[in-house]
Amino acid sequence: MDKKVRVRFAPSPTGGLHLGGVRTALFNYLFAKKNNGTFVLRVEDTDQNRFVEGAEQYIVNCLDWCGITPDESPNSPSAYGPYRQSERKPSYRKFAEQLISDGYAYYAFDTPEDLDAKRKEIPNFQYGQATRMQMRNSLTLTISEVEELLAAKTPHVIRIKVPTDEIVHFNDLIRGDVSFETSLVDDKVLLKADGMPTYHLAVVVDDKAMEISHAFRGEEWLPSAPVHILLWKYLGWEAEMPAWAHLPLILKPDGHGKLSKRDGDRLGFPVYAMNWTDPKTGDVTKGFKEMGFMPEAFINMLALLGWNDGTDQELFSLKELEEKFSIERISKAGAKFDFEKAKWYNHEWIKSQGAARLATSVKVELQKVGIEINDDAYLNTVIDLIKDRCTLLPDFVAQSSYFFTSPSEYDVNSVKPKWTAEKADFFNAFADGLALTDAGSAEAAFKALAEEKGFKPGELMLPFRIMLVGGKFGPGVFEIAVLLGLTETKTRIAKAIAVFNG
Ligand code: GLU
Repeated sequence: MDKKVRVRFAPSPTGGLHLGGVRTALFNYLFAKKNNGTFVLRVEDTDQNRFVEGAEQYIVNCLDWCGITPDESPNSPSAYGPYRQSERKPSYRKFAEQLISDGYAYYAFDTPEDLDAKRKEIPNFQYGQATRMQMRNSLTLTISEVEELLAAKTPHVIRIKVPTDEIVHFNDLIRGDVSFETSLVDDKVLLKADGMPTYHLAVVVDDKAMEISHAFRGEEWLPSAPVHILLWKYLGWEAEMPAWAHLPLILKPDGHGKLSKRDGDRLGFPVYAMNWTDPKTGDVTKGFKEMGFMPEAFINMLALLGWNDGTDQELFSLKELEEKFSIERISKAGAKFDFEKAKWYNHEWIKSQGAARLATSVKVELQKVGIEINDDAYLNTVIDLIKDRCTLLPDFVAQSSYFFTSPSEYDVNSVKPKWTAEKADFFNAFADGLALTDAGSAEAAFKALAEEKGFKPGELMLPFRIMLVGGKFGPGVFEIAVLLGLTETKTRIAKAIAVFNG
């Protein structure tokens, strides 16, 4: 019988959530959805030194914002809990000890000073097959010495005993057969002196306990895979080992190396999903959300970093991705991150959404500049009129604020050099006779009056726009006037004439 699909996103809560992490979560989520499976969030917090206040809740918030909420997590536990490794601490030691009694691991009593001395003595020291017999561990000490040290509660770790000159093979769903020579793998610590497991032991024990069927994770974990494969084998669980899928790296825009937070800082784009505030320093690192991305666009962009559906299609809703996602179409090669392309996705998503979907976010942006909306229907009409001009959500402010407040500044330089008393007369007359029933007839009246007064309509169109908008942008000026309404349009014409005359 086929195993039920259970996948996990297993972040260490140590800070901001990198977009690569979100993509890992997304691919896990999509695979679960596609296969009627379960998507688990497991918090890998065994490294107490790296504990960061608030980081777990932040990850949860990021996943919620993206719309990829896990089925099982610390907040929504089921039979496989607890979902924080720190709360599973008692479950790990027995497996480390089982490995020792089966000859696959050993106690190591080396003090930090011993290890430092070795590092000085041997360049690029690795605790492993070449050096382990020179160290203070249960392979070099007698049984009674080891028993005494343990009885005296001497600080110690448990290390895996990596076999000599073997090749570890496994099948990666993305990369095919992957193999490692064990001579290059060190004897990783499995259980630390504080009794906490390291990532290597915890990931295997928990994937087994949580019946994980497929493990999707970033390519940066590939070097750890041989240790995990050996542990699955040594613990006698090989038949239950998840299928592995190491996702391609997300690369810097120039393709040279993995995209880091520093690249974002350097090049001026976000790398984290949402704003991250360092609890120690208070420093805020900007996220895609706060930069003005729609979650739909962010997810869509991430899905296409290393995956496609085999056609040229680039725009996918989450629902569509859930249906179309397949491991076979994940590429092996790293995917270059391109912020301009990310913005393109957002622009496309904004254009394709109805005003109702955008209204809440737009209101938030407008509120930030002190504009409160009390007429939702009016806001929706405005949004539909200008959304094609907006790439990021904050763009709605510049593109729409003149619909709510009269311009306080005008691009006078574009008007004044050619401004005349005759033009002022024209606008006064135009305002007097204005009806504004619809954009088409207002434009016709404008043109007829211009002709009557001996102007080319083109000379008057720009001043009219600047009167209503303040600058040289926006949709059709007669559409703007209709939306503003007769009284407001007339008021703005009068106010601007005074400014241009002055
Ligand atoms: N805790 C690891 C991380 O922070 C998880 C790696 C894995 O999925 O095995 O990404």
